[in-house]
Amino acid sequence: MKKKILIHNGSIRHETEWLTPGTLIIQDGRIQSIRPGNALPEEISQAEVVLDARGMAVMPGLVNGHTHFSQTFMRGLAGGRPLLQWLKELIWPLQAAMSVSEMYLASLLGLAENLRCGVTEVIDHHKVTRTRDFTRMVKQAAGSVGLRCTIAWAWSNQGAKAEADQDILSELGEWFGQASEGAKINFASGPLTPWRCSAELLQKTHALARERDTFTHIHVSETVEEVQMTVDETGMRPVEWLDRIGVLDERTQIVHAVWVDDREIELLAQRQATVVHCPVSNAVLGSGIAPVGKMLASGVSMRLGTDGPASNDTQDCFENMKMALCLGRAGHHNADYISNEQALEMALASRTLKVGAPAEMILVNLNNLRAAPVHDISAALTLCSHGDDVDTVIVDGEILMRAGKILTVDVENLLKECERAIRSLRKRAGVD
Ligand SMILES: [Zn+2]
Repeated sequence: MKKKILIHNGSIRHETEWLTPGTLIIQDGRIQSIRPGNALPEEISQAEVVLDARGMAVMPGLVNGHTHFSQTFMRGLAGGRPLLQWLKELIWPLQAAMSVSEMYLASLLGLAENLRCGVTEVIDHHKVTRTRDFTRMVKQAAGSVGLRCTIAWAWSNQGAKAEADQDILSELGEWFGQASEGAKINFASGPLTPWRCSAELLQKTHALARERDTFTHIHVSETVEEVQMTVDETGMRPVEWLDRIGVLDERTQIVHAVWVDDREIELLAQRQATVVHCPVSNAVLGSGIAPVGKMLASGVSMRLGTDGPASNDTQDCFENMKMALCLGRAGHHNADYISNEQALEMALASRTLKVGAPAEMILVNLNNLRAAPVHDISAALTLCSHGDDVDTVIVDGEILMRAGKILTVDVENLLKECERAIRSLRKRAGVD
């Protein structure tokens, strides 16, 4: 039986309005009521947990639309390398040397960091799939941390490390079978890039994803060089090619979309595909600045992702929000290119707090030296806040973090174990 929780005295985001003060009640894991004004004495006395949100914003949890947990062991190593060199010299050798227990620790660290920063839902584009045990480790870690997590199981059937079509289809089918309605852990198809996947297998895996009520999650047009590779091979730009082969629709998540032209933006909007914008990663690897304002204005469904910590090098979604806003404005010489509210909406994947829905929310402290005095809550969240300002995280009516303390992971011990593991991994991978 889940506890009855009352949250009061804070600013509650209801649709896109802020109720200050507002009162929110959670019963049996769901939002029972949201209303403006102070809590009544009988409401306070009936609640089992009372959270005083004075000076805080109460809002849906952030969605981290794209990361790679394996890379929490690879932070700070990019060293000025562009995407393809960075992959070949660092990421692929480290991933190839990673053990199952290291995958578990890296996932736990990645999940704990997301939780600490106010993320309640994360998509892990899971690349280390040599045996099923690596994927089981991610699932196990996600289960113990308590976040909502989709594992987009990565595959490629072309180029170096290509896997056999039949193996990909059968393993993907097995993982899809392990998701269940209402479950916090789900699976999606994660083809790596158009230039590493055949049209035929993209079509088959996308059809399988549709049949199992899930989706396709793929890196597209991150760099100019990559776009050229698809143009050379197919005569079409990547988004155009995905559309031509029938893999661009409302069940497609396009990660990056830095180098998309006007025709591709039109296609993304028409087909109702989702774009996951990763501004910090695109800046760290010098990939470019995505035309976010243009995509938003064209009606493309947008959300934000940190990308893996090897190209960010954190998973702080507040920093990501600010970078989306700053890079967009700077790159297009326009202070009005993206509004604070648009950046916040992307970070929330347009979710709202609704009566009757599962209680999934965060409390963010704005009463601090960086954010006070608060004139506009959306501006304070996008321009002044960091992940460390998140005070409380609730998923499905369960408190996973309170007063900045993660309740589901022993963080001190985890950090020690990760330090030990990374020294051994670097040696084995030959990147010392
Ligand atoms: Zn990525």
